[in-house]
Amino acid sequence: MDRDLTAEAQEVLAGGVNSPARSFRSTGTPPLIARSAQGAWITDTEGRRYADFLMAWGAVILGHAHPAVTEAVRRAAAAGSAFGLTTEGEVRLARLIREAVPSVERLRMTTSGTEAAMTALRLARACTGREAVLLFDGAYHGHGDALLGGPGSGLTSSAGLLPALSGALRVGRFNDPSSARAFFDTPGGPPACALVELVLGNIGVVPPQPGFLEELRLLCDRFGALLIFDEVITGFRVARGGAQERYGVRPDLTIFGKIIGGGLPAGAVGGRREIMARLAPEGDVYHAGTMAGNPVVVAAGLAAIETLLALDPWAALEALGARLERDLRDAAGETGAALQVNRVGSMFSLFFTARPVTDASSARATDRRRFQRCFARLLGAGVLLAPSPLEACFLSAAHGEAEVARLVDGVRSALTGA
Ligand code: PMP
Repeated sequence: MDRDLTAEAQEVLAGGVNSPARSFRSTGTPPLIARSAQGAWITDTEGRRYADFLMAWGAVILGHAHPAVTEAVRRAAAAGSAFGLTTEGEVRLARLIREAVPSVERLRMTTSGTEAAMTALRLARACTGREAVLLFDGAYHGHGDALLGGPGSGLTSSAGLLPALSGALRVGRFNDPSSARAFFDTPGGPPACALVELVLGNIGVVPPQPGFLEELRLLCDRFGALLIFDEVITGFRVARGGAQERYGVRPDLTIFGKIIGGGLPAGAVGGRREIMARLAPEGDVYHAGTMAGNPVVVAAGLAAIETLLALDPWAALEALGARLERDLRDAAGETGAALQVNRVGSMFSLFFTARPVTDASSARATDRRRFQRCFARLLGAGVLLAPSPLEACFLSAAHGEAEVARLVDGVRSALTGA
């Protein structure tokens, strides 16, 4: 049945999918078609169950179908799924986000991380009167025209872009302060902003080295540019206050997505009051959305964040992540395999290489065949990883030792070929 559905999907959906990574193209394995999910487990259309480490690309930190979120969605849908007017829930959600992330003085919701990033760049250009934008090799901020690069740019590339837009992007090396500095202190003038994932999460997981984010803050201050943190993955994941709390650096603007929608489509941009005042209708920078702050999405996001704050799972996620990391390292040590485990809290990735992975080029220089074999073997053993060697995997509050042991056992047998 799965195969028929896959063929049918191929027939009626462009490329068989609604988002490219779902094709499993870089795994060499046919794509899974999901039927349902509960907690840390996902079930495909043939009824096979997998311990899930994809977790909706990080959107469901409480686990799938958490009862508080499900109930909130049911109630909100029954009360009217869209009004085209402001609701109390939006105000409450913005307040919760502001309390958790103090750099966010005011918020504007969108329906995706992409839109939040587009709006943040527009704000930065309007506030500074500059065009150039500094971002970093291996980062991903969404599929907007202003966020993609040309081939070989180090960013996700696309045909059909306006050269003026992609030409305004400057691509620095992550974890390399001198590379960043060169884009500020240049005859062409400094950029409007630096947009950065504090922990790279779209090239596998690459943590920031001490001093890198601090240097970006200093450069932005010195050259009058905005510092924009992309916390679409890390927001409410790597700490209550996101990666900016964890690393102690304060941005001018932050973009959010994933977790703030509780598993429904959401994004947001937030930050300093006077910058946010530039947004229409108060200011001259346009942003709008029929579904921005949709009441069902907001109900899911509120339920997710209220539950998270009450549960306070970050120490437990750190402990479980540390356990996973240690056991995977031990498995690699026992088998003599060249495996790097990169991890920040509940986000992690496996790189098949003997060398530490500290930036995009070291992430790209890993053994993809080895990853493919490991991915396929794990799938056979009922474990779903993110379907690419260059994507992050996630733990949730619903994961426990049993799921972690299943992953570690699967990796161990993949490494030994047993
Ligand atoms: N920023 C980061 C760091 C992301 O990981 C993503 C999506 N994975 C985005 C932005 C874009 O978000 P969306 O897919 O909701 O448009």
